Amino acid sequence: SMASPALLMRVVASAYSVAEKAATIVRNVMSAGDLGIVEKAGPNDLQTKADRLVQMSICASLARKFPKVTIIGEEELPTDDVTEDLIEDGHCEEILKKPCPAQYTGIKEEELVIWVDPLDGTKEYTEGLLDHVTVLIGIAYGGKAIAGVINQPYYNYEAGANAVLGRTIWGVLGMGAFGFQLTEAPAGKHIVVTTRSHSSALVNECITALNPDAVIRVGGAGNKIIQLIEGKASAYVFASPGCKKWDTCAPEAILHAVGGKITDIRGNPFQYNKEVKHMNSAGVLATLRNYDYYASRIPNTVKESLVP
Ligand code: AMP
Ligand code: MG
Ligand code: MG
Repeated sequence: SMASPALLMRVVASAYSVAEKAATIVRNVMSAGDLGIVEKAGPNDLQTKADRLVQMSICASLARKFPKVTIIGEEELPTDDVTEDLIEDGHCEEILKKPCPAQYTGIKEEELVIWVDPLDGTKEYTEGLLDHVTVLIGIAYGGKAIAGVINQPYYNYEAGANAVLGRTIWGVLGMGAFGFQLTEAPAGKHIVVTTRSHSSALVNECITALNPDAVIRVGGAGNKIIQLIEGKASAYVFASPGCKKWDTCAPEAILHAVGGKITDIRGNPFQYNKEVKHMNSAGVLATLRNYDYYASRIPNTVKESLVP
């Protein structure tokens, strides 16, 4: 008889369904029309009703199934009981059927840390740039991002009534990533993707130094990793603090699962153990290919301005 699936695969399979429930909440809050916007640090750091409800849904649903896993979500919320309608108890059968990479079969619940960004690209969500929005569930073990789920609730929203709205991308290190078509960026072109709502002089100075053929400015860390794996951009460059561990964990796992690389601007890898500082103070540099080309062209003055 089949051995019962490894914990990691059960967590990923559940996270997949939990992220699909989250996407439904994101769409429902928008169509109901009352976003309930709250400013956190300022006008470029927003929280909506969707951020709040989705975080409650994801964290409560995963905590119920995996009570010993550490779950860290972006939003600070009152610890009220979560209503039953927010709980998702399903899982993706297809994921559960896949064999767990051998190095992860022995993982125990208390060794996992799940980083949750309930809604990445909130600023863009409030401005109607709906396909910039993603839901991010990143899974870390031994301080490393090893698996992740990225749901894009409004994928295809401008593709016509017959297109299926929304998609879920997932991946595990040593297994690969699924739910999209891996595509190379145009050969010989340097296309940089960066922030649209959190620019600064340093962010722009760094991009200028790379002398790119084109610059794409879009919201969301999840969305920018999607630009890399679908060949729209060749490097994600963000020479600024502001991005947090919940922004990079799921994207990192998926990017690394397909052979890409993500670090801070100085080339240091991110750590995802539960004690780590949340802020990625030294920015983000990510590529699917040719990481060294970009890393070697980041000016030292930019690196020295960003303290990890
Ligand atoms: P962006 O590329 O601007 O969409 O940023 C990617 C992620 O990092 C989003 O979750 C942002 O909210 C977050 N972020 C980046 N810079 C800042 C900042 N200056 N203040 C608050 N959040 C930020
Ligand atoms: Mg975010
Ligand atoms: Mg968020």
